[in-house]
Amino acid sequence: MAEHFDLIVVGGGSGGMATARRAAAHGARVAMVERERLGGTCVNVGCVPKKVMWYASETATAVERAGDYGFAVGHPQFDWSQLRRARDAYVERLNGIYANNVERAGISLYRGSAILQGPRSVAVQGGDGDGTVLQGDAVVLAPGGRPRWPQIPGAEYGIDSDGFFALDEQPCRAAVVGAGYIAVELAGVLHHLGTETTLTVRRDGPLRGFDPLLREALAETLAADGLPVKDHFVPAAVERGADGRLSLISEGGERVEGLDTVIWAIGRDPNTAGLGLDAAGVAVRDDGSIPVDAYQQTAAAGLYALGDCTGNAYPLTPVAIAAGRRLADRLFGGQPDRYLEYRDVPSVVFTHPPLGTVGLTQPEAEEAYGADQVTCHETRFFPMNYALSPQEAKRRSAMKLVTVGSEQRVVGVHIFGEAADEMLQGFAVAVRMGATKADLDNTVAIHPTSAEELVTL
Ligand code: NAP
Repeated sequence: MAEHFDLIVVGGGSGGMATARRAAAHGARVAMVERERLGGTCVNVGCVPKKVMWYASETATAVERAGDYGFAVGHPQFDWSQLRRARDAYVERLNGIYANNVERAGISLYRGSAILQGPRSVAVQGGDGDGTVLQGDAVVLAPGGRPRWPQIPGAEYGIDSDGFFALDEQPCRAAVVGAGYIAVELAGVLHHLGTETTLTVRRDGPLRGFDPLLREALAETLAADGLPVKDHFVPAAVERGADGRLSLISEGGERVEGLDTVIWAIGRDPNTAGLGLDAAGVAVRDDGSIPVDAYQQTAAAGLYALGDCTGNAYPLTPVAIAAGRRLADRLFGGQPDRYLEYRDVPSVVFTHPPLGTVGLTQPEAEEAYGADQVTCHETRFFPMNYALSPQEAKRRSAMKLVTVGSEQRVVGVHIFGEAADEMLQGFAVAVRMGATKADLDNTVAIHPTSAEELVTL
């Protein structure tokens, strides 16, 4: 006989976990189905281990620059395997914390793959939960995504971002293929940890769609750091030589040779194959994503989806969490109007230094409001942390405010530079609240910081 719950959540990642815990806090009887480790992409093969690697590579840069402040640090040794072990242990601790949270919330956890039998019915296959059938008043799908692979000869010699986190040894020479968040983050981490790294992008520079100022600033810094970016490099094949080394070859015949590893970072696909969506009467888009309305409702009554599997414009952990909590508040918390507005979502790319962005880029604002309505304020400067450094070691920060109308309402904030990651959150609040340039000007600066530039532009 099927077990009955108020809510069945498919996926124990950021979105599923947030939905399940919030629903349980509202008193709902909740089941969760997860076939892999709790915490999903973010905790296991995404944000968390990536940020650890980013901290490590920032530390390498700090050690390199320590001489500017009078430290003699000699030639420090870096042990990739030790870092990996410590990082993995941290992730395991987080897995344990997630398991405790599930237990404490009274959520019934079923291990295995979820297969829909209908919009409100889920069968569990494989794992401890094998053979269980669950019935729910509501079912939420939050299965996340997985790395995309190119369909080219020799692609299998490469690895994806999951493979990056499984590397036991530091590669001496690596090529990272892609132009998005993951490509620039992994290329930066590897380069700053000492791997000879090439970033290949198939069009004109990485981070297409970000504000032009950020793209320019990143390109300038990558060049100064000696991290080569090969533009217009459309990957056509990977070959493995007799020495085991890899060559990455472009459609134009250009070759990046002598590689220990090639990392595919060309996007991610929704994890929806095998979910049994047909049985629930839900058709996926061509890219496999699940169409939902503003309330995360799929085409089938009682069946909801959220997070990366929906193909929303912001496949980010906090977005999935926010959508899940709002959905649980709506379904079980007596808040019938709760839903997530997918706008003014801040995000940070952990480059070196990081870059952060919220709201509209200049081209987007000009398109939306007309160029004559848009006023931008921008600056480039060397942060004070470089005051004692030789000129060649200095890296410029860049900041831009995009404003519209005569009152100069701030619709976009774009920051490249030290501490951009920590700076952006507060400015995102200001953007959401409709702050104007005058509001920023009327805010007393904090001196000496980089952030003060944004209120003194
Ligand atoms: P992404 O940001 O969508 O970037 C992938 C890019 O790779 C595409 O935009 C495309 O850029 C390029 N590409 C696609 N197919 C290609 C091919 N066959 N050959 C060469 N290049 C190709 O994807 P992602 O980096 O996998 O990240 C996925 C999502 O995870 C992101 O959108 C982001 O929301 C999230 N994420 C966030 C963070 C963070 O918050 N710090 C970190 C990692 C991931 P062009 O079209 O310009 O060539």
